Amino acid sequence: MGPRRDQDFFWEGIDRGELLAQQCDGCGTLRHPPAPRCAACGSDEWHAQPLSGEGTLLAFIESNHPTRRDDEPRCVCLVDLPEGLRMVSSLLDPENAEDGATVRFEIAEYDGQMLPLVRTTGGSQ
Ligand SMILES: [Zn+2]
Repeated sequence: MGPRRDQDFFWEGIDRGELLAQQCDGCGTLRHPPAPRCAACGSDEWHAQPLSGEGTLLAFIESNHPTRRDDEPRCVCLVDLPEGLRMVSSLLDPENAEDGATVRFEIAEYDGQMLPLVRTTGGSQ
């Protein structure tokens, strides 16, 4: 999974322990996944905006490693962020997975790469 150029800032942020999204300099709209232009106003000027690192579980699915079938399956999830964005992540405590559960991002190494993972904070909305 070679990150594309538009996504470099995101992964550089993750390497520093920061969860970032693009924010349009033209109209202030946040966007994720990264894209070269703002869908709202068309501007290609943007800066990296740190996110709160909080979110809500929208959906989750158990996923097996594509080649190492004996590995623990990971729980792939879609997280709704208070900033109005959605991010795909992996849930660190799948035993607590339920729709609407509040989660917090934890940047940790997974499979040799730093990734934004989430853990439930205990308590659903
Ligand atoms: Zn814009």
